[in-house]
Amino acid sequence: MKRPRLLWQLYPTYLLITVLALLAVIWVGAGFLRQFYFSETVSQLEINARLISPQLQEAATLSHPERLHALVADLARQAGARITLVRWDGTILADSEEDSQTMDNHADRPEIMRALDGEQGVSRRFSNTLQKNLIYLARPMPGPDQTKVVLRLAIPQPAFENALRGVYGKIALSGLVIFLLSALVSYLVARRISQPLVEMKQSAEAFARGDFSRKLWVPRTVEIGGLAESLNQMAKELDERIRTITRQRAEQEAVFGSMQEGVLAVDREERVIDVNPLAVELFGTAVDQPQGRSLPEVIRNPQVHAFVKNALNTSEPQEEEIALYESGERFLVARSAVLKDEQGGARGVVVVFNDITRRKQLENIRRDFVANVSHELKTPITLIQGFIETLHEGALDNPAEAKRFLKIIWEHSQRLHAIVEDLLSLSRVEQMKESQMQTQEEILSNIVGQAIAACQPQADAKEITFAVTIPPRLSVRVNAVLVEQALVNLIDNAVKFSEAKTEICLQAKSEGPDIRVDIQDQGCGIEAQEQGRIFERFYRVDKARSRKAGGTGLGLAIVKHIMNAHQGRISVASAPGQGSTFTVYLPKA
Ligand code: ADP
Repeated sequence: MKRPRLLWQLYPTYLLITVLALLAVIWVGAGFLRQFYFSETVSQLEINARLISPQLQEAATLSHPERLHALVADLARQAGARITLVRWDGTILADSEEDSQTMDNHADRPEIMRALDGEQGVSRRFSNTLQKNLIYLARPMPGPDQTKVVLRLAIPQPAFENALRGVYGKIALSGLVIFLLSALVSYLVARRISQPLVEMKQSAEAFARGDFSRKLWVPRTVEIGGLAESLNQMAKELDERIRTITRQRAEQEAVFGSMQEGVLAVDREERVIDVNPLAVELFGTAVDQPQGRSLPEVIRNPQVHAFVKNALNTSEPQEEEIALYESGERFLVARSAVLKDEQGGARGVVVVFNDITRRKQLENIRRDFVANVSHELKTPITLIQGFIETLHEGALDNPAEAKRFLKIIWEHSQRLHAIVEDLLSLSRVEQMKESQMQTQEEILSNIVGQAIAACQPQADAKEITFAVTIPPRLSVRVNAVLVEQALVNLIDNAVKFSEAKTEICLQAKSEGPDIRVDIQDQGCGIEAQEQGRIFERFYRVDKARSRKAGGTGLGLAIVKHIMNAHQGRISVASAPGQGSTFTVYLPKA
């Protein structure tokens, strides 16, 4: 239903009140006016009667009918009224308009009756004689022969009415003018009352849209002004509250979004209250507007559903490990806490998911590492113990045997030493953070030269030669000791896994922001599927061959860590029987 405007409710009411008031004033005024005019007419007649009565009295006493008639007619003309003289018995003595002989007895006329009683009589009625409405005034006065007569004056009502109508016309005209003026004023007043309300409505609508920039104009009236002030105050407070809520919401979202844990809040009906981006990423759910949806729609993981159900049924915090296999193996720890509402009652639960995959992997690596180290150490220790026991049991008596056994024991203790040395340097490099590492500008060819010198005896033993192509001024910003160790490990491998009388090429050149160093051998090469694993600790393609050559399986792991510590990297290109090329990238000086 369309509601009418306040203006159109106020304005017609005002108009109606104005019209009624105007009509009432005109009606009452006209009544008074008519009354006033009538009494004025009557007093005029009375004055006339008083003025003419002495002359008539005189003429009437002369009992000279012609003179009397002439006088009556003359006086009537002067007074502008009909004059009648009535005898005490009601018969007509003289009349200015009619023949007194033909006129009937007037003793029954109300004004005559009053005059006969000795008073002044007034009446307004239809005249049978003249056949029109007249206003009569009758007064007793002395007549002929000590008698009394009644002097009656009359004027026709239409004259009176005409005079009144003229006044009425003016009143009506002024009434119309007053009406138009008051209609205009009423309209302005109604508008003055309704306009501020219209503005308030518009501002309130703007407030509802969240636009608090406009302020309400405050009218001077107590009520509407007070309302406008209250609305302005309300808008200010609302604005502040909305800003606070928006800021808090943004902060909450920022915290929520940047959390390293997945967070899920669920109400008692298992509908999602909120879920953070990490939780969405963990469970691979891409639902628009997850808020308000049922949990299975958002997270399709039965283990999570069971966990949430259980958490909702108990008030105690819950903890459980959840494994995900959708995109690779991932492990999460879910912890629940009761989500309270404003009254402190349980609204639902909030679940925090910690991704412990990396921790698990590290645990596995550590476990494997301990197992590997134990295994690596166990072999030489067992052998050493075995040979010592053999010596103890009598082999010592055979000097040739004893010498051989001692050599084997020496070799294995060397191996133990090598393993322990490599483990120590590995842990040193691993612990070394970049900031702790001392780097300085070094001439690369010097470092390579020292590394080659360290490996020279093994190379000479196999008649392996080196072809070195390194620009003499090429410099790098590195820790020389560590890089030399890395190069020794690589050159040592190249010697170890190459046949006798082959050549190892060492090349270096500038490539982008790095210096690239290639160590190329003509050795046995490495299968493609093995290439990714040779950098793992203790990984060896051919265990027996490596061990025979004195390898510990830690050399490449150490190289990789040294490269990481320098923000550099290492890669390998190889094929079985085709030799291998190990490439390291070092930062330029
Ligand atoms: P190791 O002490 O056994 O040399 P590394 O970590 O240095 O241990 O190397 C791991 C494995 O990678 C070696 O056992 C070997 O199988 C392979 N490898 C390393 N360098 C070479 C190379 N130049 N040619 C062929 N295989 C290599």
